[in-house]
Amino acid sequence: SIMPATLSAISNSARSGVLFKGGMHLENLSHIQAIAFDKTGTLTTGKPEVTDAIFNHQVDYHRVLSIASSIEEESNHPLANAIVQYSNDKDRSLITIEKMEDISGKGVKAIIEGETWRIGNADFVGKEQAYSFENEVAEKLASQGKTVVFVANHEQVVALFALKDTVRPESKKAIHSLKKKGIYTIMLTGDNPTTAQAIAEEAGIDHYVAECMPEDKVKELKLLKQYFSHIAMVGDGVNDAPALATANLGIAMGEGTDVALETADLVLMKNDLSKLSKAINLSRRMNKVVK
Ligand code: ADP
Ligand code: MG
Repeated sequence: SIMPATLSAISNSARSGVLFKGGMHLENLSHIQAIAFDKTGTLTTGKPEVTDAIFNHQVDYHRVLSIASSIEEESNHPLANAIVQYSNDKDRSLITIEKMEDISGKGVKAIIEGETWRIGNADFVGKEQAYSFENEVAEKLASQGKTVVFVANHEQVVALFALKDTVRPESKKAIHSLKKKGIYTIMLTGDNPTTAQAIAEEAGIDHYVAECMPEDKVKELKLLKQYFSHIAMVGDGVNDAPALATANLGIAMGEGTDVALETADLVLMKNDLSKLSKAINLSRRMNKVVK
């Protein structure tokens, strides 16, 4: 049965914006030695903006912009929304998409007038093609923490977009105070290594793993569990849910997707990562009281 002290701690913490879905999670939190974070939407605001767009001079700029935005209109990914917004501010036309496929962690694929188009990371459009298009510029953009997305037709990359997401101001403070408590911090992201490194440095994260597909996030957590007896995972997306379930403690961002909220053991209201450190203090105090 649940101790009255635990019950009152849970209700107090709920009032401060940390929702525990049960007493054992409060106890679990006190044992956490490491926390893995998703990047987009968790450490960052998840509302990227297009900062740069580069088009192959041999292609029809208007047509490629129209195709890219018409394809991305069919996707719910934050990067997709940003590309649509950018294109709407320019002059674009609506193109009819015949078939569209959203490939989680990689990009989108669509057929237009019988031709296959891909928009996504280098791996998705083909590394060779990606790296043969404005490679130096792309590397420089990535080193600034920007995500580079390539647009390719059936034979070559014809454009790239660079998008910058903002590290939440609370992230840096939250990571700092977690590290002071002796908690090891890790970032798991589907983004490329260069961008990942820049964001990890900005947030003050100890260690990062880039090019993580949803199933890779689970693999990484299983690996980390061999080093840390108690590890938590914080995420917001559908693609984070399996990892949240794998961690000893799953933590969802309050404005995250339903699946993340349902899977998590603990929810951070208002996406406030700084509440995490306070919740750990509370759980550690509680553990002393209850035992
Ligand atoms: P994260 O783990 O950082 O939240 P995702 O796993 O959602 O990132 O996506 C990983 C990468 O896949 C993105 O950085 C991007 O390059 C590519 N990608 C995914 N969906 C799209 C899309 N709709 N349009 C363009 N690129 C995409
Ligand atoms: Mg995310």
